[in-house]
Amino acid sequence: MTLSGPAAEQWAAAVAAVRCTGADDEVQLICHVNPDGDALGSMLGFGLGLRRLGYTRVRASFPGEFAVPGPYAGLPGSALLAPETEAYAAPRLVVVFDVASESRLGGLAGRLAAAPVSVVLDHHASNTGFGTVRLVDPRAAATSVVADELLARLGVPLDAEIAECLYVALATDTGSFKFDMTTVTVHELAARLIATGIRPGEISRRIFDSRPFGAMKLTGEVLGRAVLEPAAAGGRGMVWTYATLADLERHGQPPYVLDALIDPVRSVAEADVAVVVKQVAAGEWSVSLRSKGAVDVSGVAMSQGGGGHRLAAGFTAYGEAADVVDTVRRILDEHLS
Ligand code: 5GP
Ligand code: MN
Repeated sequence: MTLSGPAAEQWAAAVAAVRCTGADDEVQLICHVNPDGDALGSMLGFGLGLRRLGYTRVRASFPGEFAVPGPYAGLPGSALLAPETEAYAAPRLVVVFDVASESRLGGLAGRLAAAPVSVVLDHHASNTGFGTVRLVDPRAAATSVVADELLARLGVPLDAEIAECLYVALATDTGSFKFDMTTVTVHELAARLIATGIRPGEISRRIFDSRPFGAMKLTGEVLGRAVLEPAAAGGRGMVWTYATLADLERHGQPPYVLDALIDPVRSVAEADVAVVVKQVAAGEWSVSLRSKGAVDVSGVAMSQGGGGHRLAAGFTAYGEAADVVDTVRRILDEHLS
């Protein structure tokens, strides 16, 4: 697969889509279910940019339960957030953020067909190619890199509020500027964002280094039951654990606290592949996959109807947690044999 950014015509079409929208027309922004820092940060940063341009009716939504993960609850632009049930029914313009496939739009997927134009901003190589205008750049470390460029092309200057949103998105998807995708472009964008006066230390503490005591105890318990399988993944090793709704309830924690669990799990030196199986309902699991480089886990995720990036991917699975891990182990063997 060749990695190239959006074509000049797509950028021009995206700018035209915004400019052809009247200041009082309805604009619906949408990011993926269970939004993370990049989904929310790029969506709210862009939404604030539209407000700066004078658009009066901008709503920002995501499918499913209207729960913003604690670390992102106070982001600038949060006043634009509206639950799925209050999303505009037939907006003039839809803009989609960080969504690799329409399944990640849940009940809001139909809004794309209901609008004359839908602009998709994304950075997943696995993006399935939906929407009428596609700004998909698999080389971008975060969707916020694409959002920043579109804002610039629209003539919106960065201010501290927009910058905080885009910075949170960038810091989240680069794992605090640690992942391979942390390019010169990433640091140049970070520099421009910080130049607006935002406080990186304070932001990082809030989104990465602050959690309730119950979340810490829950993390300890779930990590304590992790299993290392050195022979799995063609001898490259796999480490896995799982967390149930009962675990969350026992510690009084909301589901999003489980999203951070993959980081300590993937740090295990003896395994290339890390797997965290998180219960979302009876018999339904959200699976997070990571590789240190030897395995393309997006292939595993896509074979199960999910998606993601080469080294970070996920999918939804059904049944028992042990069966989900069996499935991952089997597909890894098939892919690597
Ligand atoms: P995470 O493990 O942090 O939830 O997700 C890692 C990556 O995989 C993200 O880029 C995310 O968009 C993608 N991903 C996670 N779950 C799914 C899924 O169910 N479907 C698709 N298409 N992508 C997913
Ligand atoms: Mn992203």
